[in-house]
Amino acid sequence: MTALVALCLAAGVPVVLLSHTAAATYTQLASSALACAAGVLGFLAARRLTGNARHGWALLGGGCLSWGLGNFYWSWNELVVHAEVLFPSLADAGYLGLPVLGAAGLWLISGFSSVRARTTVLLDGLIVGCALFVVGWVITVRSVWEAGADSKLAFVVSLAYPVGDIVLATMAVLVAARARGGGRGIAILIILGLAGMTASDSMFLLDTSAGTYFTGQSSDAGFFICFTALGAASWAAARWPAEQNDAGVLTRWRILLPYVPFGLAASVVAGQTIGGGRVGAPEVVPLLAGLVLILLRQLSTLLHNSTLTRRMRYQAYHDPLTGLGNRAQFTERLEVTLAAGTPVAVVYLDLDDFKLVNDSLGHDAGDVVLRTVGDRLRACFEPDDTIARLGGDEFAVLTGRVDGLPAQARRLLAELHAPFQVGSRTVQVGASVGVAVATGPMYAEDLRKNVDLAMYAAKAQGKNTYAMFEPSMRQGFDREMMFRAELRQALAHDLLDVVYQPIVTLADRQVIGVEALARWEHPYLGSVPPEVFIPVAERAGVIAEVGVSVLRRALAEFAAWPGAGDAYLSINVSPSQMLDPSFPATVATMLAQAGLRPEQLVLEVAESALADESDVIGTLALLRSTGVRIAIDDFGTGYASLRHLHRLPADIVKIDGTYVRDIARDPAAARIVGTLWQLFGAIGLTAVAEGLEDPAQAQMLLELGCPAGQGFLYGYPAPLASIALRNPLTAA
Ligand code: C2E
Ligand code: MG
Ligand code: MG
Repeated sequence: MTALVALCLAAGVPVVLLSHTAAATYTQLASSALACAAGVLGFLAARRLTGNARHGWALLGGGCLSWGLGNFYWSWNELVVHAEVLFPSLADAGYLGLPVLGAAGLWLISGFSSVRARTTVLLDGLIVGCALFVVGWVITVRSVWEAGADSKLAFVVSLAYPVGDIVLATMAVLVAARARGGGRGIAILIILGLAGMTASDSMFLLDTSAGTYFTGQSSDAGFFICFTALGAASWAAARWPAEQNDAGVLTRWRILLPYVPFGLAASVVAGQTIGGGRVGAPEVVPLLAGLVLILLRQLSTLLHNSTLTRRMRYQAYHDPLTGLGNRAQFTERLEVTLAAGTPVAVVYLDLDDFKLVNDSLGHDAGDVVLRTVGDRLRACFEPDDTIARLGGDEFAVLTGRVDGLPAQARRLLAELHAPFQVGSRTVQVGASVGVAVATGPMYAEDLRKNVDLAMYAAKAQGKNTYAMFEPSMRQGFDREMMFRAELRQALAHDLLDVVYQPIVTLADRQVIGVEALARWEHPYLGSVPPEVFIPVAERAGVIAEVGVSVLRRALAEFAAWPGAGDAYLSINVSPSQMLDPSFPATVATMLAQAGLRPEQLVLEVAESALADESDVIGTLALLRSTGVRIAIDDFGTGYASLRHLHRLPADIVKIDGTYVRDIARDPAAARIVGTLWQLFGAIGLTAVAEGLEDPAQAQMLLELGCPAGQGFLYGYPAPLASIALRNPLTAA
């Protein structure tokens, strides 16, 4: 941009250098060509742009072209053909085309889209116009006015020049106020151009009225600067279309804008008065008009500010998505109500599996769900109850009706659970609801804690339930919080351990794989089983860290194990880990770091996570395409229907231990399971029976055709080094 400005200024230099030489005559013709070129660039910019900007640049281009043609007409006749051009003539029409078309163009280019922005800009324009008129009057217009002219038309046209300059200067100030960001450079070029034009024009006027003007004098440099700058601005505008910005908030520069020229005009008039000069209506009337306009502008700003304040107040206390109150509103009202000491109940509500809705149906669908929940909450409570969305999928209600709350909570759950449409899908949401009551004065913080505990208790009871706060809940809560903190500590210090259990062929007890099982050596509780700490990790939101920690350790230990060549490593993954889109990439990186092949890894996912259309399935397919194998864990305890089994991206089915025990007791169950292997085989799945504890079970499964098994019979979960490659029982 600096280079462009320098180029524009440089364009004036030859004019100054040639001003007293014979070549000066030709600078007139050159300035015509330059103006026409700027006009063409304006049209080219218009072709590339759309909307107001398109018309604006076309008009500005038209203005330049008009000036260029008018100047060409004059120079050709005066300087080349030496025929005197009368005043006014076609040339003047051309010259005056620039302020008329240019001002209209700049108005459009400024692109004030809102009515308010347009009003402000109009007021600013009028104020600046009044002020510049006063200055212009004192500098040039008065002399033209007083000189008079031969005819009325000539008089009007000679006045039109200084007035046109005032209009252009006003537009330049407005463009400057408008400019920000990328548009600033373009604005600088436009202002430079208009300044060049105004300066040269004023000088021309002063010189002609003094009779000292001669063709090609150095003040004509301004015309060159003007059209180089306007051409460059058009070129830049086509390349970097300016972004629109009139977001209601005025920059400091825009607020101060009209006062600067107005101050200037007032000082000029004051200077004249003090200096004993004449001051008449042409100075005083626009000055007074400007003053009235400034008052109007002040009033408009005041009105606008009060609207803004109201809007900001609303935004500060409301949730934009649901239109309910927000956390700030809820907290404030809770404190006020509690301070008054009237009985009050707080209901907290957390949607069940909202993350799944968001992840599988998308955020837009998530928004629809939240809005629907908001509407249903409104329907369930009274208008004077405070209903707020605290954030995410958490809602809260503050009500003075403290009787019959359990019934109210049941009604709320039933209402929320009704299915509704999101696009083409039918969605049903459940929620965990906690309720706590303050019958007398109480700290807001304590009541909030109570209702939180009730909600956690509801969550722990299963989905779509409510719980009323009871004092005994505090103990359980403290335990959970302590557990979470300790688990985070354990993760931070890499204190999670992994033990391994062999997976063997039932026929000859050959170790074909090892399953990694996470262990948490708690400082004073001892070994905490995964069934306890994995859910805690899920609730605390650190399950991904647990997963990565186990994965890293198991891969490293397995890679260093001598049996790694003949056996696979099986690792449990929880569904929420699978929902992380970066999981497959993490697995690939970690495998590479451990120097293992994808075929050496099996990932186990519980059957219960594989409900139809679950997003987990997509991740499984992706993982499987990299060569990692997938096992369906705890088969028989979830609800993956046999109908869908062949569509699951899996390689191995792990029959749950409870099933295995059933077979031993119940011959009918045995017959059913006996046919399962054939089914699995037909769809390319291989089976592993879990929880084998005695040889009779193993024998029976072997006879039923099950190829592999895992259980205390073949080894307890233990450090990898203690697993013999051949099972100790047969090795002995
Ligand atoms: P699972 O994947 O079904 O693992 C087998 C569980 O059965 C293990 O319990 C194992 O110790 C136990 N088991 C093995 N043989 C026998 C037997 O003969 N009889 C009986 N009664 N039990 C047997 P563990 O280690 O307590 O793990 C429990 C569950 O925790 C695992 O079930 C798995 O779902 C989960 N889990 C373990 N480690 C991780 C992990 O790193 N990440 C995740 N997300 N889950 C894990
Ligand atoms: Mg497992
Ligand atoms: Mg299992």
